[in-house]
Amino acid sequence: MLRLYNTLTRKKENFVPIDEKRVTMYSCGPTVYNFAHIGNLRTYVFTDLLRRVLKYDGFKLKGVMNITDVGHLLSDGDEGEDKMETASRKQGKSPEEIAAFYTAAFLTDLKRLNIGLPEILAKATDHIGDMLEYVGVLVEKGYAYQTADAVYFDISKFPEYGKLSRLKLDDQIAGARVKVNESKRNPADFALWKIAEPNHIMKWDSPYGKGYPGWHIECSAMSRKYLGEVFDIHTGGVDHIPVHHENEIAQNEARAGKKTVNYWLHGEFMCVDGGKMSKSLGNTYTIDNLVERGYRPLAFRYFCLNAHYRKKLNFTFESMDAAQTAYLRLLDLLYKHKNSSAEISPDTLNVYTEKFNAAIDDDLNAPLALGILWTMLKEPFSRKIYETALVFDRVLGLGLDKPEPLKEEKTEQAEVPQEVAALVLERIEARKNRDWAKSDELREKIDALGFKVIDSKDGCRVEKK
Ligand code: AMP
Ligand code: ZN
Repeated sequence: MLRLYNTLTRKKENFVPIDEKRVTMYSCGPTVYNFAHIGNLRTYVFTDLLRRVLKYDGFKLKGVMNITDVGHLLSDGDEGEDKMETASRKQGKSPEEIAAFYTAAFLTDLKRLNIGLPEILAKATDHIGDMLEYVGVLVEKGYAYQTADAVYFDISKFPEYGKLSRLKLDDQIAGARVKVNESKRNPADFALWKIAEPNHIMKWDSPYGKGYPGWHIECSAMSRKYLGEVFDIHTGGVDHIPVHHENEIAQNEARAGKKTVNYWLHGEFMCVDGGKMSKSLGNTYTIDNLVERGYRPLAFRYFCLNAHYRKKLNFTFESMDAAQTAYLRLLDLLYKHKNSSAEISPDTLNVYTEKFNAAIDDDLNAPLALGILWTMLKEPFSRKIYETALVFDRVLGLGLDKPEPLKEEKTEQAEVPQEVAALVLERIEARKNRDWAKSDELREKIDALGFKVIDSKDGCRVEKK
């Protein structure tokens, strides 16, 4: 029996879907104004793990993820500039171009991490009509009111506000996330529809004036459209618990008059060197940055799976090195099992399978499941073990069907002169900063010294010409 930790009840619960065969699930997706960083991706690895476990347990899935390509303001409240528009102004491109570019980059990252796509990827800009319909119902039911700058949700009409985060409204306001706005009835009222300032680029006609939707209404409108009034699971990162998901609950329950999501699941944060990931600290790494440093995307997936999704995970390059070493050893052991014809008793294999299943069914305990895999791989080499590992990989998604022997440390590297090695390092740094002009210039310099740089998805290597 699959058990999942429900943020709403703060308990592990038996998972019983509404329809016993098919699970309905909504996951908050990215705002596509920038590359996803490794913290964001940790959250999507968690969602993917959940989807894989559900499928492994025999459920069919209807999953929806939103792509926010409009109207997400800089803060969780209603103040600040639209992130899409800021990026668009900075990069001299239209918001549509920005969204298309970063959506494609996001999908590439998912692919590299073996993260399966949900059944439905829903772009916010394709659903403005659904959002306006939703706002209309909330206004009609008396849960929303219009001011000169927006249509707001009236939080005083929803006394259960705060039940997910268990924060009192006063504490949330004291958290200073929501700036007091004179036109609101209560400081924590949030915008469902914002009236656009004259220079705002993305705006749509509406009964309330030309404007754009609030971020929270996006998820309520799209989940309802595709999954119905009540659905099984809603996922996101823990940062969404206090504002975004409280607001979704308020909107959903105001409209439906009942609970609309049965299980709320949240992935814990990834931090870097023990602290927050932030642009100013220069530590918001992307998958490209890891690849440029020679890490495999699936070694990063291994790194994520090796921590329970509800525990904070600290990223350091030392721990990433350890993950890559472990991952390559795993592939090496599998390679040896694959190429052995020795037999192993089915009973032994069954014990491992039972333990593995119990681990993942206990609130997706991937670190324990990996431990069981390792113990199994230490048995005498047998192709049957390799085959069992492939079954486990339906959950782990670590590409175990492509085992490979460990390569000896590259001896050719030693023959690269210091001068060339320094240029290669400089080029890796330039690429990390997306300074392609400099990267090309350095390639030419390396070339002039008689060496060739070969870039691949796993990083770069240099060879004598
Ligand atoms: P955003 O594009 O900012 O809405 O974030 C996309 C997803 O990444 C959301 O589900 C966030 O909760 C999650 N997220 C943001 N920062 C981190 C982090 N440092 N660690 C884990 N998840 C994160
Ligand atoms: Zn959402």
